[in-house]
Amino acid sequence: MPINLEAPKRFQQLVDQAHMVAIEIFRKNSRKYDQAEHEYPKELDMLAAVIEGSGEGGGVGGAGAGAVGARSSGGENGTKARQDGGNRNGSNMASLLGLIELCWGDVGLLLTMPRQGLGQAAIAAVADDEQLKRFGGKWAAMAITEPEAGSDSAAIRTTARWDEDEQEYVLNGEKIFVTSGDRADLVVVWATLDAKQGRAAIKSFVVERDNPGLKLDRLEHKLGIKASDTANFVLDNCRVPKENLLGSPEIAPKGGFAGVMQTFDNTRPLVAGMAIGVAKACLDRTLELLTEAGIEIDYDRPLHTQPAAAADFISMESDWEAARLLTMQAAWMADNRKPNSLQASMAKAKAGRVGTDVALRCVALAGAIGYGEGELLEKWARDVKILDIFEGTQQIQLLIIARGLLGLTSGELK
Ligand SMILES: Cc1cc2nc3c(=O)[nH]c(=O)nc-3n(C[C@H](O)[C@H](O)[C@H](O)COP(=O)(O)OP(=O)(O)OC[C@H]3O[C@@H](n4cnc5c(N)ncnc54)[C@H](O)[C@@H]3O)c2cc1C
Repeated sequence: MPINLEAPKRFQQLVDQAHMVAIEIFRKNSRKYDQAEHEYPKELDMLAAVIEGSGEGGGVGGAGAGAVGARSSGGENGTKARQDGGNRNGSNMASLLGLIELCWGDVGLLLTMPRQGLGQAAIAAVADDEQLKRFGGKWAAMAITEPEAGSDSAAIRTTARWDEDEQEYVLNGEKIFVTSGDRADLVVVWATLDAKQGRAAIKSFVVERDNPGLKLDRLEHKLGIKASDTANFVLDNCRVPKENLLGSPEIAPKGGFAGVMQTFDNTRPLVAGMAIGVAKACLDRTLELLTEAGIEIDYDRPLHTQPAAAADFISMESDWEAARLLTMQAAWMADNRKPNSLQASMAKAKAGRVGTDVALRCVALAGAIGYGEGELLEKWARDVKILDIFEGTQQIQLLIIARGLLGLTSGELK
């Protein structure tokens, strides 16, 4: 099937809407919430209300992470492959294109948009119909990471004990770095039913944020994305109804954990898209500054005949374009139900690195202006780094890619 390198035209309205929100709401509040860490951006409530009123539960015209991974019977925005074998651009592509625009505005504010959150992607991936109805549309955070388990998520120690008398699970452990953990309605917690049985026994549980056993320990102070809250929790005999376990309660030696991990095939292209959005903001602003300084970018002339700043800019743009196309490919594959673990990791690795690289080079090109708080360039350079860390670090993506290309298992290549 030939690849079409243009963004699907039917999403143009969504892209325009997201861009408008980025300009009118995100950009206008960027610096405010960068400086007021842990203060809730109340301006987003109005936005969420407008979105809800318009019936676009998944985000700005379906542009939020909440829409991703949602199962459908193959409707307009569905992820089901078309019967005629043609291309489908569904919720993954829509979310990606919207997120790029919103993160061009402000990635920290995007990460704290009410009723979004990567936890919804996990719910959509494994929840049954009754759970989808109960949890759908709620703001859901995702709690995997622990003090002793980050990159190696199979090493988590939080336990889920089955209480036969009360017919409930009892969760105990510690979770750190939970994005939106304080503000969300729900927290999807990974815990093991039996540590001796390894990754097969790891399950995800939906915990209501106001559950008294889910105790907020502290909020992190961070380098960037300060508008987004990052919470650390202790789970202290946290009782969860059996209906809140996502997927099957059985400990199946094969398939269970792989199923949970497949959530990342949908979410990694989105995080890559966030990096693409921030990098585009850096490129756009730097182009304005270069133009004001009298430097002309000429795409028809060889790089070595142009000012160094122009040559640097063109090379950054081409790297950015490569990251964008890889990411669109990964999202397109998810929409068309093609296995995309390899491409999702490639997109995340490339975009994470390009985002960080472009942002810092733009700061450098803009000189003293780039490093000062009078511009947002220095903020974007701080914000973008997280996109090369969470949902799997740069090094972990390269490891997954190497395993995929060499045909090796996680046991064979560590
Ligand atoms: C702001 C923020 C928000 C976050 N939000 C969430 C969230 O919502 N939910 C959640 O569950 N987690 C979240 N995280 C956690 C994030 O996913 C982890 O930080 C990340 O997975 C890395 O884990 P770690 O910090 O324990 O580092 P480690 O796993 O200890 O890694 C440290 C370094 O070693 C490298 N490394 C590790 N293993 C290997 C290997 N085998 N080969 C080569 N290099 C390796 C890593 O790439 C990294 O550079 C968040 C983190 C931050 C900072």
